[in-house]
Amino acid sequence: MEHRFEAIVIGAGPAGTSAAILLSCAGRSVAILEARPFPRRKVCGECIAASNLPLLDALGLGDSLRERAGPELRRVALWCGEASIIAALPARAEGDPAWGRALGREHLDGLLLARARTAGATVLQPWRALAIRREPRGGGYQVEARCGEAELALQAPVIVRANGSWEVPPSDGTLWSRSHRASDLLGFKASFRNTRLESGLLPVLGFGGGYGGMVVGSDGLTTLACCIRRDRLAACRSGATAGAGAGEAVEALLLRECRGVREALASASRVGPWLAAGPLRPGMRLEGGIGGAFLIGNAAGEVHPIIGEGISMALQSSWLLCEELAGRPDAFRADPWGEICRREAQQRYALRWCAHFSRRMRLAACFAHAAMRPGITAAVLPLLRQAPALLGFAARVSGKTRSAAIFPTGLLPGLIQGSSS
Ligand SMILES: Cc1cc2nc3c(=O)[nH]c(=O)nc-3n(C[C@H](O)[C@H](O)[C@H](O)COP(=O)(O)OP(=O)(O)OC[C@H]3O[C@@H](n4cnc5c(N)ncnc54)[C@H](O)[C@@H]3O)c2cc1C
Repeated sequence: MEHRFEAIVIGAGPAGTSAAILLSCAGRSVAILEARPFPRRKVCGECIAASNLPLLDALGLGDSLRERAGPELRRVALWCGEASIIAALPARAEGDPAWGRALGREHLDGLLLARARTAGATVLQPWRALAIRREPRGGGYQVEARCGEAELALQAPVIVRANGSWEVPPSDGTLWSRSHRASDLLGFKASFRNTRLESGLLPVLGFGGGYGGMVVGSDGLTTLACCIRRDRLAACRSGATAGAGAGEAVEALLLRECRGVREALASASRVGPWLAAGPLRPGMRLEGGIGGAFLIGNAAGEVHPIIGEGISMALQSSWLLCEELAGRPDAFRADPWGEICRREAQQRYALRWCAHFSRRMRLAACFAHAAMRPGITAAVLPLLRQAPALLGFAARVSGKTRSAAIFPTGLLPGLIQGSSS
């Protein structure tokens, strides 16, 4: 197998797979490493905002997505305690389809990775990247990877880290530590059959110390995903039946504290175990990549999942980076000039990243902190009862109705032609 590539992508979530597709379509030799075998379930609410549908079409996935995804999400609800407020979700401003849909990550990530393979990327799975080392004199990077007992070293001038934010990243000489804090948010997700959740309704759940969402997704299954503070979870578990897992404690809490969840799950049965992930540390981490690997998706910055924009940020940050790289062919040279071009691309990408995502991240943080505090939600509920359209307005300002207007700029010409395959 070839060990030298123009770009190595680490991680095959939506960020990494879309970068592998885009760079391959731009004519670059690409390897993508994914630590886990697919299909794999993942903690995620699985809602794909309508703003991404043109991107997914351009990546060649539109038809498969429409075939498998759940119903269009046309209404949003806020479920807090005994309260339920429902509003229409505004349609995407231009084009059809106008509303987002949910698709299981075991389908979405697999479809994207298969497309990366047909676009020409070398897929290494299940291979975990362990370390990234810089070669001397601008000569690019070496990535050391492992699969069971086997080890491998790959070289490339461009490294794209798309390894998410919930696992120890490959070591690159910078310090990574994650001590436990009471305020850490832990993510949970489970799928249910036979729920009474209205098709096309997207309830957002607020409860003391956490927030979440429910949606009817692919295969008729309902996904329930939520985040809960570590201290709240510990308190719930200490009062739970001995031997009950963390997911079961979260489920019991939601049934107790949220009438909407209680009613939706009244005759439902869980399919498979609860999945857990985290801790989530929402915030921007782009500076970790300056002078080194390019960071995209959650590795670059994590948004509070209350607005369901994480997949958008993964796909869109990947697009932003690939545009910058495709416009600088010399960034793929393994020499000092290549290094200068990579630094330039890094700076432009960081500026565009902040312009696209900073507001969304701040807004999500405000919503999340309000939803986790029953005192604040109780104060806001009377206003929302009077004017439920404010919920739709919140969806609009969090970026759901504007198509990702970041393509095509002509820098990725091969892609649009290849999108129908
Ligand atoms: C409770 C919850 C609900 C959510 N709901 C939604 C929602 O409804 N809509 C939405 O848009 N977003 C949602 N999100 C956010 C969304 O899941 C993430 O933002 C998204 O998965 C980020 O994509 P990514 O490609 O950056 O990373 P990931 O999807 O995390 O992918 C990273 C990949 O890298 C691999 N990897 C890690 N380390 C290595 C390594 N060293 N070597 C090789 N491979 C490696 C992992 O196995 C993984 O496959 C939710 C998140 C949570 C916690």
